Amino acid sequence: MKSWRDNIRNVVPYTPGEQPKEDGVIKLNTNENPYPPSPKVLEAMNHIKNLRKYPDPAAADLTEAISSYYGLNRDEVFVGVGSDDVLAIAFLTFFNSGRPVFFPDITYSFYDVWAGLFQIPYETKALDDEFGIRAGDYYGENGGVIFPNPNAPTGALLELETVRDILDHNRDVLVIVDEAYIDFGGESARSLIPEYDNLLVVQTYSKSRSLAGLRIGYAMGNKELVKAMNDVKYSFNSYTMNEPAIVMGRAAIEDEAYFQKTREKIIKTREWFQEELRNMGFSFADSKANFVFASHESIPAKELFEAAKREKIYVRYFNKPRIDNYLRITIGTDDEMQTLAEFLKKQIRP
Ligand code: PMP
Repeated sequence: MKSWRDNIRNVVPYTPGEQPKEDGVIKLNTNENPYPPSPKVLEAMNHIKNLRKYPDPAAADLTEAISSYYGLNRDEVFVGVGSDDVLAIAFLTFFNSGRPVFFPDITYSFYDVWAGLFQIPYETKALDDEFGIRAGDYYGENGGVIFPNPNAPTGALLELETVRDILDHNRDVLVIVDEAYIDFGGESARSLIPEYDNLLVVQTYSKSRSLAGLRIGYAMGNKELVKAMNDVKYSFNSYTMNEPAIVMGRAAIEDEAYFQKTREKIIKTREWFQEELRNMGFSFADSKANFVFASHESIPAKELFEAAKREKIYVRYFNKPRIDNYLRITIGTDDEMQTLAEFLKKQIRP
């Protein structure tokens, strides 16, 4: 007997970090920004127009604000419901050759989920022992390339010249640089867009703009790429960007002073916290993101993760090959990081 069960698309979904419900938690497990969004974002709520009507399917007010912020044309920016939505649409739009898409073995764990969902073949390329991406691994024939820069969960940054090297060896396929964390210390590949019509740079409001709850992500690239993505989006759901996101998203990107202030605070806290970790015997790749991926010389990461949770300090632990002795620790406020540093010191020297 045939059953409808035989025809289910079986997928292994992405597991997001825990969102604890209890009070008094220090939440350093999902790379959110510890500071609230710009006050101008809240003010902009008063300008949300008529919710009775459908929003603008092109979200023109928002794409216009993002493109003028970066000095791009409006048709070079695509917006979506967080960069997860943007990346999923990019996979669907560009990775159709039947050849494997290349990405690192240790990276954002949604890439293989989208590949599974859309039935895209892929091949992972091992990071080196310092968790670096080796450009040469991406030279071979493939169906596209994607990597985060800085990489997640390692925080390690690729220099722009290395990104260019990967692009130079992949002129016939799409190369996606996922820059979710670029504002915390890296150089964006955006400047390469005029030279490479196959480059898509993806960024998000969730980290450096303190708006994970609003769900805004965007891609920047040649207008042909953006048009292709919009065609796919309009074949799926025209109204992905809701009116509050369009209005508040515009206000957020217009408050440059606030963005710079909070970004710099996080960088400063990260540098201080990395020094603390080093002094405690942790090792880690130098992070250019809003998190640190660290391993201790004598205490297993899983033990630290569980002990921290008992103290209501949430960090992220991945029970996966090569990284199961690491903790990914989001950079919070100075006070939060101080509390965590004190906790870690006690664990290390009880
Ligand atoms: N890319 C990377 C590398 C990430 O770590 C995340 C955060 N989970 C995302 C994309 C997606 O973020 P968002 O959908 O909130 O923009």
